[in-house]
Amino acid sequence: MEDNHIYQYSLLNALMDGVSESGITASKLASKGNQGLGTFARMDGELVFIDGKVYQLQAEGKVREADASDRIPFAVSTQFVPQKTAQVEFRNKDDIDKALDEFNDHSKNLFMTYRINGHFHYLKCRTVRGQEYKGQPLSELGKKQSVETYENVKGTVIGLRTPKNWQGFGVAGEHLHFIQDDRKAGGHVLELQATRAEFQMAVASNVHVELPTSDDFNEATLVTDDEGVKSVEG
Ligand SMILES: [Zn+2]
Repeated sequence: MEDNHIYQYSLLNALMDGVSESGITASKLASKGNQGLGTFARMDGELVFIDGKVYQLQAEGKVREADASDRIPFAVSTQFVPQKTAQVEFRNKDDIDKALDEFNDHSKNLFMTYRINGHFHYLKCRTVRGQEYKGQPLSELGKKQSVETYENVKGTVIGLRTPKNWQGFGVAGEHLHFIQDDRKAGGHVLELQATRAEFQMAVASNVHVELPTSDDFNEATLVTDDEGVKSVEG
């Protein structure tokens, strides 16, 4: 992978349609850069790829390091090399957008990748509990997700901003996953607050996509449900 290129496996719309039985291995994802996010087979929890290691963030805030052979039905990764590092106050998630725009206000239609390191006063994270039956759509899983809040924790957020018109390819707007420094908790970030954290950013204009070849993928409708994505990935 070249610096700040993005690799994506599958499409968010495939997950929305419940296509998550199989996918690439964790070791293959680990060869596609140094950080990223995604989910595991049957949407069992959230995936965070950080410093070359892939972790599974499970319901109730549990974490395990993925086995090399674990299957990943959807993930986005990058060979992240920060183009700017700043100390930023995050009163809420919207401050991420603001900081990215300050860094580069000509990238509305480009991808941006980032990493936030530091001490968080407050974090609200969710983890998907996994499908109860084959093909269960993500929108349904969102209704029974596990939600945890954390106060005064140290850790890292791995994030990606996808341009608006790519909704369904990925999550349009901000998508970020958190993992604690001790690797004992984490999840898909719903809310965050930090008085001062290190914010590293990069613009990405090269996107490499690998699509599944399974029957499940080919039978999926893959129609973008904007409201559905916002309610489950917001
Ligand atoms: Zn997520």
